[in-house]
Amino acid sequence: MLVFILNAGSSSLKYQLMNPTTQNVLASGLVERIGIDGRLVHISNDSKTKLEITMPTHKEAIEKVLETLTTGDTKVIDSIEDIDSIGHRVVHGGEYFSKSVIVDQDVISKLEELIPLAPLHNPANILGMKICMDLMPNKENVAVFDTAFHQTMAPSSYMYALPFEDYEDHGIRKYGFHGTSHSFVSNEAVKLLNKKDSKVIVCHLGNGSSICAVRDGKSIDTSMGLTPLEGLMMGTRSGDIDAGVLSYLMSKKDMNAEEVVNYLNKKSGLLGISGISSDLREIIEAGEQGNERAELCIDMKCKRIKKYICSYAGMLEGVDAICFTAGIGENADLIREKVCSGLEFMGVELDREKNSIRNDENREINTQNSKTKIFVIPTNEEFVIAKDTYSLTKA
Ligand code: AMP
Repeated sequence: MLVFILNAGSSSLKYQLMNPTTQNVLASGLVERIGIDGRLVHISNDSKTKLEITMPTHKEAIEKVLETLTTGDTKVIDSIEDIDSIGHRVVHGGEYFSKSVIVDQDVISKLEELIPLAPLHNPANILGMKICMDLMPNKENVAVFDTAFHQTMAPSSYMYALPFEDYEDHGIRKYGFHGTSHSFVSNEAVKLLNKKDSKVIVCHLGNGSSICAVRDGKSIDTSMGLTPLEGLMMGTRSGDIDAGVLSYLMSKKDMNAEEVVNYLNKKSGLLGISGISSDLREIIEAGEQGNERAELCIDMKCKRIKKYICSYAGMLEGVDAICFTAGIGENADLIREKVCSGLEFMGVELDREKNSIRNDENREINTQNSKTKIFVIPTNEEFVIAKDTYSLTKA
């Protein structure tokens, strides 16, 4: 069984070819600058191949990827017939989808309806599906949604305190994102806890970051909202902000709505505060050399994570495990230490030595006496996509 996993963006696409039962990845890669010039980086057979080749549209890009999988030194399968099914990462499933589904015309129509909620992402996701259906007409396609895991939130968690009609008429509410990661990591945590009734907080800290409160395997609240802009301070996104800042910015800096959205999404967060980079590694380095804005950046990032952890611990009425995942969560021991320090009052005791160990395994980094477990759990969103695709399409 082989699943081709596709994550199509507006001018890029990421892919993997995975056996969902063994988790073996035969090949993976990234195509960028589609419609500009086209660059493909492909990894298979223990080597990395880089190609610069014109790809006017996503169709040529996917054709090239399939050719790369089946020919030359990069070949890992004899023909596309060896691919059993295709799993698509889809950003927004709105209220229609609370789990992964086999793609048909009705699914595509619903995703098209949801485009206003994810104008940058859903069109590319739909395009990826249509091209795969065209190039591999005898294969089934499965849509796996970033939002689906959070469809278990109660209205009191997902509603904004705005006029109710705007929820009814325009779907304005919190949807949450990173659902495949929160689902995978919380599931791993529950296995490690070996406990029936579980209260878990997952901190997905990457370039995009979000936190999720998971009770008995179900998302009860999460920090991202209608869009992935709400919540934590991120690489270039502001996270939570007083909505009053928007109109103030518009008048003070003569910005229109689009410019303000761009400012909050692309120029803020770690980049905006540090003035150095959106990459936390560079900020940590600058902080170590005494750069005050870099230090402020790290303090702000950690304080906000802590604020959400404490609020979610309250909402869960206790917490069995705090989990760290994604680029920062898995690798930045400094951030984990700063986030956990001072949380001893709620039974969180970090073991500094265990925290400094780096590997790719699930690991426990709390002291033996800590009432709350602290886990580092490497996320694997592609595996969730492959697993769901396999379970929905196996004969
Ligand atoms: P992701 O979006 O999950 O790929 O995570 C990207 C973020 O992880 C970037 O901000 C990186 O700087 C950060 N990151 C990756 N490795 C490390 C590390 N060793 N220490 C600190 N941050 C890291």
